[in-house]
Amino acid sequence: PVIRLDGANDADVKVSYEFFPAKTEKAEAALWDAVKRLEILQPSYVSVTYGAGGTTQERTLGTVARMVRETSLTPAAHLTCVGASCATIDAVADELWEAGVRSIVALRGDPQSGFGGRYEPHPEGYPYAPELIEGLKKRHDFEVFCSAYPERHPESPDWQTELDVLRRKADAGASKAITQFFFEADIFFRFRDRVADAGIDIDIVPGVMLQPNVEGLSRMANAVGVAVPDWYRRLFEGLEDDLPTRQMLTASVATDLCAELYDGGVRDFHLYTLNRADIAIAVSRALGEAHARIRHRE
Ligand code: FAD
Repeated sequence: PVIRLDGANDADVKVSYEFFPAKTEKAEAALWDAVKRLEILQPSYVSVTYGAGGTTQERTLGTVARMVRETSLTPAAHLTCVGASCATIDAVADELWEAGVRSIVALRGDPQSGFGGRYEPHPEGYPYAPELIEGLKKRHDFEVFCSAYPERHPESPDWQTELDVLRRKADAGASKAITQFFFEADIFFRFRDRVADAGIDIDIVPGVMLQPNVEGLSRMANAVGVAVPDWYRRLFEGLEDDLPTRQMLTASVATDLCAELYDGGVRDFHLYTLNRADIAIAVSRALGEAHARIRHRE
């Protein structure tokens, strides 16, 4: 499918981009190159992740603070409950607020041992995302986003549990839920219907993955309970040593997915950029975002 926007609707499309904090000087330069290139597309916001086990606290903070200082972007800092007391998290929230950050993606987080490790709430911490959201909302007037899982979080035994947690996050004040990545638009639509049927008042925004490292992505998908379809595996088969082709296919697959989502009424898209601008720009342009902005400037 190709997205054919009729011009009048282009301006409705909202795109946001997710980055992770860089670990090395070289990665830092690449991140800022991507940030500057994507800034031109005027995303509704950009988010910066928080390492597993809270390991990137300083770098996440430094990155969003620099975004406030040096760009026109609206940054959202990810923040997790893992391994920290409420007092520590509250202090991070204060620092974010003082740095001019007004949006937070609030998460429980995964243990430092990574996916699949057993999560234990910190004895003096916020145990799960709903409690964290409540704490953040009480402390400052943040806009708070949360996560959602179209194929269920691996720790949720049934849909009732999954939807109960989402409801608690909405009730605690989260204004939208960004989904875990997924490969088929129907998975998103079925989930959106479930949320609507349960009467949960929250916008569900699809998280669209732009990872051309397909092997790594498949491993991650398995670890977090995301189904990798056969067509997707076949599409990339034999391209292990051909990154440029994998990148083009990744852009093509993501554009198709966005087109189907658009046809199903989605107007807000969150792109997992992996700190690269090229694929994200290609997908955004296909979404009409760039065209709408360019027209508005004329
Ligand atoms: P929650 O919504 O709190 O709940 C997850 C599960 O825990 C529930 O589905 C339920 O099974 C169980 N649960 C919830 N409440 C209770 C309760 N009271 N009692 C018992 N069980 C309960 N991780 C990072 O480390 N850093 C990031 O920056 C990051 N960004 C992310 C962004 C998005 C958009 C998404 C989708 C995920 C992100 N993650 C990140 C991963 C996330 O931290 C993990 O998926 C984690 O396992 C769950 O966090 P959550 O906020 O979704 O959890």
